[in-house]
Amino acid sequence: MRKPIIAGNWKMFKTVSEAVSFFSEVKGAAEVDGVESVICAPYTTLPALVEAAKGTSIAIGAQNLHFEDNGAFTGEISGVMLSDLGVKYVIVGHSERRAYFAETDEIVGKKVHAAFKHGLTPILCVGEKLEEREAGETKNVCKVQTEAAFQGLSAEQAAQVVIAYEPIWAIGTGKSSTSEDAEDVIAYIREVVKGLYDASVADAVRIQYGGSVKPNNVREYLSQSNIDGALVGGASLEPASYISLVEGA
Ligand code: 13P
Repeated sequence: MRKPIIAGNWKMFKTVSEAVSFFSEVKGAAEVDGVESVICAPYTTLPALVEAAKGTSIAIGAQNLHFEDNGAFTGEISGVMLSDLGVKYVIVGHSERRAYFAETDEIVGKKVHAAFKHGLTPILCVGEKLEEREAGETKNVCKVQTEAAFQGLSAEQAAQVVIAYEPIWAIGTGKSSTSEDAEDVIAYIREVVKGLYDASVADAVRIQYGGSVKPNNVREYLSQSNIDGALVGGASLEPASYISLVEGA
């Protein structure tokens, strides 16, 4: 049985004091047996959040990492630094990073390896643009992105990856994919993983849906047999809403 995982992606929102205040409100309430609860927050808030999360079951994640351990990469943060802080998860290859920061499939693959090297669990984002969907390319895009990101991973590592299927046209738009459409693509992504490894790895990999997930639709997605959770932007920013998402799972 795969444990459902609800992850908030705060993107570029919240100061340290806002993050700490949020955490004190969700602590306890967003800890539900049988559901993994993760908050992926801006770098500046991570030390305070990791400290606040001690003794709770809420895991803290980053939203990006550089693939090198250190070096002359002004402005970047590495896996060494994140694991030193006690961060557990890291989002890799979010469509906003692919679109605005020129992250290619090759770079995303290197970042997945860097995450494992430092004991971080990657939340790997894949998903199609609107034009690709309209051209009937959705599954192929997800296949290419998934295969590139899994390249060179052992079966043991592959089984630990959390994949987030996020159709780009559904992010922040209020236009969510239907749960049936999301299930169809996610079941296909699981087949792709099976093709790369075997059924046991494919059965172990957790695959989230992301894109306009809200407290009122999270349960519908989670009721699909291949959807193991949600990666949530906007609706993860308010404590009450985040708590409802975790409870809804
Ligand atoms: P929204 O939930 O705001 O649509 O964002 C989804 C997302 O990009 C999460 O990574």
